[in-house]
Amino acid sequence: MSGSEQRFIDEAFAGNWVVPLGPNVDAFESELNGFFGHDSHTVALSSGTAAIHLALILSGVKSGDEVICQSFTFCASANPIVYCGATPVFVDSEPSTWNMSPALLEEAIRDRIRLTGRKPKAIIAVDLYGMPANMTELTDIARNYDIPLIEDAAEAMGSTFGGRPCGTFGEFGIISFNGNKMITTSGGGALVCHDEATAERARFYATQAREPYPYYQHEHIGYNYRMSNICAGIGRGQMTVVDSHIGHHRHLAALYGRLFSETNGICLHTDPSSLYQSNYWLSTIVIDPVTTGVGPETLRRCLERSSVESRRLWKPLHLQPVFSGAPAYVDGTSARLFDRGLCLPSGPFVTDGDVSFIVREISRCIRK
Ligand SMILES: *Cc1c(COP(=O)(O)O)cnc(C)c1O
Repeated sequence: MSGSEQRFIDEAFAGNWVVPLGPNVDAFESELNGFFGHDSHTVALSSGTAAIHLALILSGVKSGDEVICQSFTFCASANPIVYCGATPVFVDSEPSTWNMSPALLEEAIRDRIRLTGRKPKAIIAVDLYGMPANMTELTDIARNYDIPLIEDAAEAMGSTFGGRPCGTFGEFGIISFNGNKMITTSGGGALVCHDEATAERARFYATQAREPYPYYQHEHIGYNYRMSNICAGIGRGQMTVVDSHIGHHRHLAALYGRLFSETNGICLHTDPSSLYQSNYWLSTIVIDPVTTGVGPETLRRCLERSSVESRRLWKPLHLQPVFSGAPAYVDGTSARLFDRGLCLPSGPFVTDGDVSFIVREISRCIRK
């Protein structure tokens, strides 16, 4: 917390705005519009998952449709496809960004059209660990096939691609304010739309699809997905530190990079070119099993014994039991990353001294 969150919460209590709408929600949305620019009309919601669900509904996804989704991601990217009664079609990553491979995306679209006679209804591409996806090629392909692109930028608030903020590339962008993300509202998310009419449509579905009548009239199935005015107060406080949080995450990644330059067999995941400016939400490494003689699980356990928490990379969704029947267009890239990668401590309270300690401990663990 920055210290200023409490003031916005106190204001909400003083005005008795303890509901899922109110002055903090309006102000938070307008601050987010300023942050994202590019004609962004954001809708503050109860979670990033809710934002993905609404993006799919607004893209017209219905029961029996197919939706293409990056396989290398958190399950929340794909679960809302199933909420809609649709089928996820998983696409593997490219090695440079770890995000959706444009070549495999195109192959998947063509093959689904050939097999089913219908186009997938939407594409969900992710900016994983804050690294922007290859937006030049992905937006080109989506446009060529006229399929809406949903950018899951849950982890990428503050990242840019070609100078443009992640979250603004698709028909819809989604951001998460869960406790572990770049900023938090304790739990929450936002849907980034590009016109006010679409944002209003999202607010309509997020407030139980209540029609404008003097009584409760319902012509669509709605959801209870709006952000509370208290959570939005936390978000407003967090907006005062978002730039410094992003700066700190980038600083830590640069420091890890410098310190790892002398460690053989450890490769930090970094911007593949100057087009990409990751927020380095998490600093992540790939461990060469031949040079180091260890895998991520051995390293994770060794670090744990020194009180350093690390986490495995996301297990690709096409390898998850719950999605075992889903079609997948994969070439082994994400499976290999899962077998070799680790996320390192990267939060706002990690110090330079912590990073030096962690890098020393990793060197010790892999030399054993
Ligand atoms: C966190 C996350 C989400 C979901 O956001 P919530 O606010 O936790 O619902 C979706 N996609 C990715 C890639 C995430 O990391």
